[in-house]
Amino acid sequence: MSAAVSLRCIGCKGNHNLEYLLECPDCGGLLYIEYDLDRIAQVQFGNLSGPGVWAYAELLPIPDPLHQITLGEGHSPLLHAPKLGNAMGLNNLWLKFDGLNPTGTVKDRSAVTAVAAALQFGYDRIGVVSTGNAATSIAAYAARAGIKAFVLSTESSSRPKVCHVNALTAHFAMYQGNYDDMIIGFDKAVDTKAIFDGGASRNPYKQDGKKTMAYEIFEQMDLQIPDYVVYPVGIGELLLACQRAFRELKLAGHADRTPIPVAAQSDVADSIVKALANDAERTPTPITYTIAEGVAVGDMGAKGDWVLEDIRTSDGLAAASSDAEVSEWQQRLARLEGIWAGPTGCITLPALAKLVRRGDIPSEARVVCTISETGLKSDLEPPDIAVISTDPVAVMQFLTT
Ligand SMILES: *Cc1c(COP(=O)(O)O)cnc(C)c1O
Ligand SMILES: [Zn+2]
Repeated sequence: MSAAVSLRCIGCKGNHNLEYLLECPDCGGLLYIEYDLDRIAQVQFGNLSGPGVWAYAELLPIPDPLHQITLGEGHSPLLHAPKLGNAMGLNNLWLKFDGLNPTGTVKDRSAVTAVAAALQFGYDRIGVVSTGNAATSIAAYAARAGIKAFVLSTESSSRPKVCHVNALTAHFAMYQGNYDDMIIGFDKAVDTKAIFDGGASRNPYKQDGKKTMAYEIFEQMDLQIPDYVVYPVGIGELLLACQRAFRELKLAGHADRTPIPVAAQSDVADSIVKALANDAERTPTPITYTIAEGVAVGDMGAKGDWVLEDIRTSDGLAAASSDAEVSEWQQRLARLEGIWAGPTGCITLPALAKLVRRGDIPSEARVVCTISETGLKSDLEPPDIAVISTDPVAVMQFLTT
């Protein structure tokens, strides 16, 4: 059963049947999936169960259980983090740790519905252009579903990710040249219907898997809505999907408000932060390297305008961080709470700390900060570690100082 009823265009607001469409046939606008609010009103939040994201099957656009493949994604912990909260001046901080997903990132929530949608629409191949996290995730779910994943990466991808993708699919290539050129060729192939779109820029079925993070937060907070939710923003799929889910909860009468969204970007890819600060339109930037690979999106395209509008209409906030700030908070998160996150996964922390310091977020606010990635997929230089001998005196000295 699914409460999904139609595709809705964000441009002309037109309605379309629930088919495989990547843009509005009338105006070319982006599409999202609309749900029946009366049906959502009947959903028994707090009593839902099921494997992976399919605990929320009614709130997803894949009605047939035959297409509902899973690797046990989602159901990630919401951890109260008093010590980290204290380090940034917050009294009520929770971390939604999505690094525990099957391939180690939040991408599994959307890859599972992308591959399920490929099955639903009769495709036996799905493609993606990605530096790593989307690639591993799409390839994993395609393998699980028994369809072919075609993955295009660049040589800058980390070794753990390259080995992971290579293990999952035989159709894996590195491309030379830049992403913007590659995506033109990729989208052309997708438009011929030769292959199902596993990318995040247009496919409305993919995005909706990420709504499940919002439903989990709502249930884990005993059916309360936090004051703020902090999202890493690459193309903005996670922010858009979760805020839509929170809005559905409100419109269906389950909640009395929606959280204020906070966008965390890298300072080399900060088009949302700049547009908000300057009260201007979004201007794409050619990006240089950042360790936060998952949010290295210089041109968010039409989705960027949608994100900007979403944040503006909900009085949202945004902040950008440097690689040095990300590393500093990555270390703090590990030492203070025992969580090892990748740089993209914890880019939310320096952004949040900055907004608290500026007085934009009050210390009493109830804040959920997403930690979207495990640290185990990164390629890091081994740090300088002390070396000692096996001499019992030296051992005793090490263990007691
Ligand atoms: C892709 C990615 C993001 C960014 O999500 P968007 O939906 O593209 O904004 C955040 N965290 C991780 C770990 C990612 O891989
Ligand atoms: Zn339209």
